[in-house]
Amino acid sequence: MPRSKERLDNSKEQEHSHDFKSSEEKSVRVKLLDWYDDKKRDLPWRRYANEQDPNKRAYAVWVSEIMLQQTQVATVIDYYNRWMAKWPTVQDLANASLEEVNEVWSGLGYYSRGKRLFEGSKKVCEELNGRMPSDAVSLEQKLPGVGRYTAGAIASIAFKEATGVVDGNVIRVLSRLRLIGANSTSKIASGKFWQLSNSLVDSARPGDFNQAMMELGATVCTPKTPQCAMCPLKVHCMAYKQVEDSKKTKTSEFLTKGNMQNGSRVSADIEECGLCLCSTWDVSLGVCNYPTKPKKKEIKQETFGACLLQKNNENGLVVVKRPESGLLAGLWEFPNTQLDTTQNNATSTITRFLSEEIGLTKFTSQKELGEVMHKFSHCHHIYKVYHFVCEETKLKQVLRPVKWITKEEIKDAAMPMAMRKIFRLYEDTVSNKRKLNTFHNTMKKQKTMDSFFKAK
Ligand code: SF4
Ligand SMILES: [Zn+2]
Repeated sequence: MPRSKERLDNSKEQEHSHDFKSSEEKSVRVKLLDWYDDKKRDLPWRRYANEQDPNKRAYAVWVSEIMLQQTQVATVIDYYNRWMAKWPTVQDLANASLEEVNEVWSGLGYYSRGKRLFEGSKKVCEELNGRMPSDAVSLEQKLPGVGRYTAGAIASIAFKEATGVVDGNVIRVLSRLRLIGANSTSKIASGKFWQLSNSLVDSARPGDFNQAMMELGATVCTPKTPQCAMCPLKVHCMAYKQVEDSKKTKTSEFLTKGNMQNGSRVSADIEECGLCLCSTWDVSLGVCNYPTKPKKKEIKQETFGACLLQKNNENGLVVVKRPESGLLAGLWEFPNTQLDTTQNNATSTITRFLSEEIGLTKFTSQKELGEVMHKFSHCHHIYKVYHFVCEETKLKQVLRPVKWITKEEIKDAAMPMAMRKIFRLYEDTVSNKRKLNTFHNTMKKQKTMDSFFKAK
């Protein structure tokens, strides 16, 4: 091969490499850790870094990581503090009941997470002599609900194991740093993210390094408005470089140089790589061309009739317990049943359901209050909400436990988020209106008394 051609091929390889050179790796570690030491947020779970007992450290990280799955940091803080105050060790949690766990979890969503934490604590205490597994492989194997990411996080943060982590934040940062534009859920991209993360992680401070990557993704390299100018890694960022180059070059030249032309790659070696951007580079998106996700599947929508069933003139409402397995297992909910949206028979469906499920058949009033929508990750539930009043109070337990609950008790009960939305609708439409009416009536009465005294 002629020398000039060889040089050309090498430079292409370099230009499109999705790896870091080892000198770059070192620089990324130093820059990222310096930035983290300076800018990290003071979060309650980070205060356990100085805890001497590794078992307590691991438990504290485990709880935070499970709570942070699918829930924002700002929401988790309060729940985390309450949880750790109530169950400061894995042994304390193992001695709790699922009912208590669900109550503390109430409002955080995805209740199976709390249940699995509880089951995991029991396993640690009953089968592992009260000791948390101390490396990523055994954490993933032995603890329910602990996947590869959570295992890596606990092992690196609590036990200083030099293992990487890959979550949504890490994917975003790495895909931009190394121009990984393949669908981030594909096997090839996911394998690459893990390889990069494991190779980049700082062996002296693995936990801090992993948290720094995630912190950068959460606060600087954000999905829609990355702050590249403030980023400690911009000199190593290929997406940033690509955007800067595009400003200096005419767009048509840039598209050719930047390996895209109407969505098809220019050179064959890149085409075979499998990690480069597969769609057309959108100049207006800049670094946000990365990462790419698969198209969202159409989300299923289901409609339910939910009933706030009240005793005549009394404070109680009926709740039934969900089955002990499956979606929202073991939580209390207002009686509800799926409706056939092609039929206009919601009240008769609900009436039949109430009769079969809890043995109540006579209602003095039935009123539709409105609709509530709740989004789960895999489907959307629409609840048509009804307020029924009944005279009977004896409930029949057919399949599931059923009970009367006061409105005050509802605030602390282990109920799914959708039920809380339904209760809020009820408070806004029925309960508060009644309070308001009572208030107006009192005012009217007061006026009458005043006029009585005046008249005297
Ligand atoms: S330079 Fe911009 S795109 Fe690159 S890692 Fe930093 S914030 Fe993300
Ligand atoms: Zn490539």
